[in-house]
Amino acid sequence: VQIKFLGAAGTVTGSRTLLESKSQRILIDCGLFQGPKPLRNLNWQTMPFAKDLHALLLTHAHLDHVGASPLLFRDGFRGPVYLTRGTAALAELILRDAAKLQEEDAEFANRTGYSNHRPAEPLYKNEDVDIVLKHFNTLDRGEWFPLNGFRFRFGNAGHIVGSSFIEIEDSSGYRIVFSGDLGSESSLIMRSKDHPEWSNAVVLESTYGDRVNGVSDTTDVTLEHMAGFINKALPRGRVLIPAFSVGRSQEVLFAIKKLMKDKRIPEVPVYLDSPMAQRATRIYAEFVQDLKSEAQSFVRHELPSFVTSVESFSDSQELVKDLTPKIVVSASGMLTGGRVMHHLKTVLPRAQDLVLFVGYQAAETKGRLLIDGLKELRIHHQTYPVRCQVGSLKDLSSHADQRALREWLLRFADKTTRVFLNHGEAKALFTLKERIYGELKVDVAVPLAGEVFHLS
Ligand SMILES: [Zn+2]
Repeated sequence: VQIKFLGAAGTVTGSRTLLESKSQRILIDCGLFQGPKPLRNLNWQTMPFAKDLHALLLTHAHLDHVGASPLLFRDGFRGPVYLTRGTAALAELILRDAAKLQEEDAEFANRTGYSNHRPAEPLYKNEDVDIVLKHFNTLDRGEWFPLNGFRFRFGNAGHIVGSSFIEIEDSSGYRIVFSGDLGSESSLIMRSKDHPEWSNAVVLESTYGDRVNGVSDTTDVTLEHMAGFINKALPRGRVLIPAFSVGRSQEVLFAIKKLMKDKRIPEVPVYLDSPMAQRATRIYAEFVQDLKSEAQSFVRHELPSFVTSVESFSDSQELVKDLTPKIVVSASGMLTGGRVMHHLKTVLPRAQDLVLFVGYQAAETKGRLLIDGLKELRIHHQTYPVRCQVGSLKDLSSHADQRALREWLLRFADKTTRVFLNHGEAKALFTLKERIYGELKVDVAVPLAGEVFHLS
């Protein structure tokens, strides 16, 4: 068996890893590359291995793990896609949204003449997504499934609804684990992740490989930090929380509700201005078994009456102009687009308002620039001064920090386990590599894009 790293190698997006034997070719995740343009350009390269591929296995529904699956089918793949039911529900939502955005972008480029291609083409369309969905095979976690001489099973990764690590075993009993993205123990709503019993090799995500949360990193400390930030703006100003539609938004709303109930922040109106987050929330309510018990009743019963969902774009525009104290949760989480950009136009110039970040901000995104102290921001071809307060809540993350990654690994790895680190920026990858080697004295590799390793 050999393993080839086709994406998320030395970077955090584009997860694609190929597992090959003489008779079998399995791809684990098929994500889009996101971020700076040179990375996004990789999405236009064909995947020549698609025709000979036997199966696609998906760890979870985030775009950087599933977003390129329509392209895989366009390049000739016709096999089954194995995933959990929760992942299938969220993946449909995320893929359809991605197709819609790409079709809109291409349409905009053609209308304004702004494109190198004439006419501009979307990366994929909604009908390409239909083909992917037809090949979905949903499976339960914990049970082994045979796959032409191999077998595999899903285990709870505690990251978002449906998220799973995958154990794959070949006919000789050689076992390899793909972590996917691993959830944080300080998550307020996700049930804690499980771990494999043992493995010969592991491909471990490293998003926060260089970050250790505080020693007192409990959910209550997280809530205290959040209250501290929010109380800088309330009760006079407004709080704008950019959040990813899937996972972050639900987590943030749960935290706000808890803080208001405990009277740690003032009671002001709370808005969820993201149609996609609203749909994701309904899926969370459907798959509550992945959530902590307190979060289950919140998502099912309390959330609908506590939050005002903003549906139409014109209602969203009204909300943007309304300067009364309130909390608005809106997407996208890294300020790469979406309704949150319109909110920023009236929030950024006002000293009494607060923008509060609650998730990972990739290099060169507007989110990262704001946290780093940018003084003005360009939105839709206009410049806005940054006079508002900017906060970043590091410990409310959907990713395990360095300590949690090591602890997870130590639960099943020993000196003979081969470790491959992916899904991280260079500093995170090499910091984590050093720490794991120091602790376990195991063989730790940080694969380059396209690199192949022989396993058994
Ligand atoms: Zn993820």
